[in-house]
Amino acid sequence: MVLSSQTGVTNEWDSPMFREAVKQFEHVAEVMNLDDNIRERLSVPQRSLIVSFPFRRDAYDTVDTVLGYRVQHLLTMGPTKGGIRYAEDVNLGEVAALAMLMTWKCAIVGLPFGGAKGGVCVNPRELSRSETQRLTRRYTMEIIKFIGPDQDIPAPDMGTNEHTMGWIMDTYSTHVGHAEPGVVTGKPPALGGSVARREATGRGLVSLIPPTAHHLGIKVEGSRVAVHGFGNVGQYAALAASEMGAKVIALADITGAIHNDSGFDIEAVREHVRRTGGVADFPDSDVLEPSMIFELDCDFLIPAAIQGVITEENAPRVKARVILEGANGPTTQKADVILREMDVFIVPDVLANAGGVTASYFEWVQDLQNYFWSESEIVGRLREILNRAFSEVLDISISRKVDLRTACLIKGIRRVESAKLARGVYP
Ligand code: NAD
Repeated sequence: MVLSSQTGVTNEWDSPMFREAVKQFEHVAEVMNLDDNIRERLSVPQRSLIVSFPFRRDAYDTVDTVLGYRVQHLLTMGPTKGGIRYAEDVNLGEVAALAMLMTWKCAIVGLPFGGAKGGVCVNPRELSRSETQRLTRRYTMEIIKFIGPDQDIPAPDMGTNEHTMGWIMDTYSTHVGHAEPGVVTGKPPALGGSVARREATGRGLVSLIPPTAHHLGIKVEGSRVAVHGFGNVGQYAALAASEMGAKVIALADITGAIHNDSGFDIEAVREHVRRTGGVADFPDSDVLEPSMIFELDCDFLIPAAIQGVITEENAPRVKARVILEGANGPTTQKADVILREMDVFIVPDVLANAGGVTASYFEWVQDLQNYFWSESEIVGRLREILNRAFSEVLDISISRKVDLRTACLIKGIRRVESAKLARGVYP
């Protein structure tokens, strides 16, 4: 089958999110005059695996058939790297789009990985701990030939966490016959996980607030922050922002949205979430209509939940001066255009949430060397890598008169192009 070089999209991966990812790539390829052969090659993932497997519920007579995916977008740069998400509506196209985004993200911050992503179609909130463990171990078996420390290294994403990674590590290690901590990142420190990995995405994102504020002339102290999603990324982003002196005035998650103009005590909200499962009904707060979080008057809006939440419909009502994309793909392309015209400064996902994969890279390096770094070394190196990438893409954005997302993608795609041209075509 020959792909259409016009669109690069075939029916295999077609989904709204994959179409968006390819459209974004095509736009940047045009701006940077990317080699046509490479353009076509990069517009589809290199490997896509769909698995179905039996999953026994706690009620021992029920066996569900579950679908799972693992997509490796690019094998040119080194092993592939990317999270695994558990969500009811996950599909091949979504996973492929996220794998492509991971390729650009790794290249932007200069990590020796291509992009990958995985997913299992399941509602993680409905599963008991033992069900999650069984599901994870069986999914791992289904993809075991495709993962490994020098092949493809999963990490947590939506609906998965360090326990999930621990079970993947254990299943993989049991099958290869020795402990192999480098097969996943984001696992518990007791299994070779890295300190500061759990916090890295949210904290890394917030480490870009000072240079962004400096560039735009915003005072960080007392600035107003709204966070959509209060899971791993959202919680640490909110915590780091308030530690920096900003006021987190609104929070939302799947249970609802809350508002307090004086700023939340984030530790208290985290405690409430641990107890009740969500931010809803937190005392000392006003109830906010969840969709209103995108329209609040604030300095920094941090979408940190799911994709496609800032759309052409709500974008015209966004009042934030800066959007720091913690989630992957939270802003649709039509919304992106509208926001650019409104002069809203967007720090795109491929850079803003790259702290997670950067800390994962540190974890993988430490596992391979069996030598572990201190928290301050990790935090310092993380900040340095993200801040350097930010300043490089800001320069590209200014010199080429393009928005930051386009500048990021130019940097990442150029790096991939150089590697592909240097390796050539086999045979
Ligand atoms: P998580 O599962 O820990 O948290 C997700 C949060 O979003 C929860 O608070 C949940 O209640 C909320 N949420 C889910 N659906 C929602 C909805 N429809 N409306 C409002 N809130 C909703 O996930 P996470 O790891 O924090 O990931 C969040 C986003 O960040 C995802 O897009 C993920 O791809 C991206 N990301 C995560 C990492 C990481 O290291 N965890 C790294 C890079 C990017």
